[in-house]
Amino acid sequence: MSISTKKGYIRELNTREIEAKSILRKYKKIDSWFISHYGMNLYRGCTHNCVYCDGRSEGYYVDGEFGEDVVVKVNAIEVLRRELDPKRKRTPFKRSFIMVGGGVGDSYQPVEEKYQLSRKALKLIYEYNFPVHMLTKSTLIKRDTDILKQINERNRAVVSCSFSSVNEKISAVFEPGVPPPDERLKMLGSFKSEGIACGMFLLPVIPFITDTQELIEGAVRKATEVGLDFVIFGGMTLKDGRQKDYFFNVLKKNYPELPVKYQNIYRASKWGEATVKYYSLINQAFNSIAKKYKMPRRIPLELYRDMLGENDLAVVILEHIDYILMLEGKTSPFGYAAYSISRLKEPLGTMKGSLTELKGVGRTTEKIILEILETGSSSYYEELLKG
Ligand code: SF4
Repeated sequence: MSISTKKGYIRELNTREIEAKSILRKYKKIDSWFISHYGMNLYRGCTHNCVYCDGRSEGYYVDGEFGEDVVVKVNAIEVLRRELDPKRKRTPFKRSFIMVGGGVGDSYQPVEEKYQLSRKALKLIYEYNFPVHMLTKSTLIKRDTDILKQINERNRAVVSCSFSSVNEKISAVFEPGVPPPDERLKMLGSFKSEGIACGMFLLPVIPFITDTQELIEGAVRKATEVGLDFVIFGGMTLKDGRQKDYFFNVLKKNYPELPVKYQNIYRASKWGEATVKYYSLINQAFNSIAKKYKMPRRIPLELYRDMLGENDLAVVILEHIDYILMLEGKTSPFGYAAYSISRLKEPLGTMKGSLTELKGVGRTTEKIILEILETGSSSYYEELLKG
């Protein structure tokens, strides 16, 4: 199979077909970015070949040449059918979005045209009655508008797309295999016109290139114009090894003055993180822009309030509060309280008199949890969102 790239030449794709043992991955706790307990990777490796992709780092064990080789889990649908069938499960599914995308391979990269695993997975998700959250950088997802509409009407679908910025020239350097930002925005606009909630994942912003006030504001402004429901923001990680080496080669060629500046913010960190000072600077910049445009910085509550169990709802709201306070430069106990709740086996509603016995839960957090149990929301959270 071959694909034509942005630079106009045809590239051969090396695909390897494998039989997977499992497809559905259950997270240790609900993911409050995606409002999801479950995710899946239908492909390993990604020919979109984004320069900053951390799928390239050794820790993910993606074999072959990242960007050129793709492993296709050819039996994925058969396995997924077994995994999604509630009759075969010993413990019931936790209600939340099933996440399709992210990880180490875009679900709508070019091989999807041939194998259609994402389309078939969506049909199963519809058949078994689950809500879905899609994350992709490809406009190929438009092909599946019909099935996403059906899921949305019955259970809800969210379509998200990631951007490092909305600047076409920068995108051509760092995201050589995906459609330009304007096409991705247009694609989100078309889902919005079908009544499907959509979001922008403005991540990773690339240090000293797409992290400027002007480019962050440009992205949030476009998101507002398209009517997106939220923008989720994040900085870049750069792990030592393949990911950093590949990134630096491209950086040196296109921005020869920048490697020195990168050395200052990417010091030895196991997870490839930049310094706290750098992340807090870009977070603050994003925060004030998002507030200016009244753009939600997390998935809005109305998209999942009726879906989650009470413990998960409390975890998500507390984590969102913690995040928004972090954007404001404040620390809080709410993230720790959320973690304690995520470990519980019993429903929070049965512990109303003993919430403060949970680690991280003091009187203020107790009040917030009781309000969530009573109303499905928190007035403190809603105040914070108004900014
Ligand atoms: S689309 Fe996502 S998974 Fe694919 S190369 Fe780009 S960042 Fe990596």
